Amino acid sequence: MTESALKYVASPVLLLARNTFFHHFLVFFIIFLQIFEKCCTFAENLVSVVMDTSKYPCLGALIGDTVGSIYEFDNIKSVDFQPLFDKRAEYTDDSIMTIAVADWLAHTGRTRDELEDRLVYWAEHFPCPMGGYGGGFRTWLFSPERLCDFKGNRYKDGRRHPYNSYGNGSAMRASACGWVAHSLEEALDLGKRSAEITHNHPEGIKGAQATATAIFMARQGESKDAIRTYIEQTFGYDLQHTCDEIRPTYDWEASCQGTVPPALIAFFDSHDFEESIRLAVSLGGDSDTLACITGGIAQAYYKEIPDEIINEMKMRLPKEFWEVMEDLAQ
Ligand SMILES: [Mg+2]
Repeated sequence: MTESALKYVASPVLLLARNTFFHHFLVFFIIFLQIFEKCCTFAENLVSVVMDTSKYPCLGALIGDTVGSIYEFDNIKSVDFQPLFDKRAEYTDDSIMTIAVADWLAHTGRTRDELEDRLVYWAEHFPCPMGGYGGGFRTWLFSPERLCDFKGNRYKDGRRHPYNSYGNGSAMRASACGWVAHSLEEALDLGKRSAEITHNHPEGIKGAQATATAIFMARQGESKDAIRTYIEQTFGYDLQHTCDEIRPTYDWEASCQGTVPPALIAFFDSHDFEESIRLAVSLGGDSDTLACITGGIAQAYYKEIPDEIINEMKMRLPKEFWEVMEDLAQ
């Protein structure tokens, strides 16, 4: 632009700027714009504090696993840990296997062989998650030739056999069963089948079934009292305690029967999704798995999860996990 052209453009602006009325108008206009922007942000926050998460079944389980991940071997006996998502927090094997079961339910004919295929597929794609895979399950996944029967003899066929486990791995991966079931009977059946491929001990199966049925009942709008009564009567768990009663003496525990009842109690004691996760972590023990089970049930019950929590998860989960959850919701 030439000098004369610049003068041509600038002179009216300078003239206007010297005008007191225009100057005041400009100042007020800028202040108005700033106030308008703040009002828009406030209104946006008001309408999107929480998000309906039915599009992402199982997300609550993955959130609990992620939040609890850093406390699994460094327990914190408090609900007031800050921030909710530590910068070191990551999804662990609990999330990967939850997605594997969700994939089995969403994309296959739900046979035993297809479940084995999906569990192995996801483990091979995510072989070294934070905390790793449990010992027995790692053998089942990666060294099936070392599996032994109940007498301690190695199987000769090199195939993957269940190993009579009652570890909490069956419960932590079962949440999708509760999301797709159309009846309590179906939740029980899917929970059993998702577990017994590895965890064929009665307690291993019960843990998966209790998680699946609690989620199914929560989805149906059943009350906490109804869920508590059903789980107690069906599986024989003692759920007549509170987190405050359990917390002082609760220690590291990897069995279904030692993990599922406290995870359920954390849900019963809570008043919203975030509190359920904080309560589960505050018990100590296998924090990520406790919070994974609690979070799965709490999502189904409370329906909504704060946006800020979803946004944290968007930064932490691989896109494949989101895709499986979306497909499961179809
Ligand atoms: Mg874990």
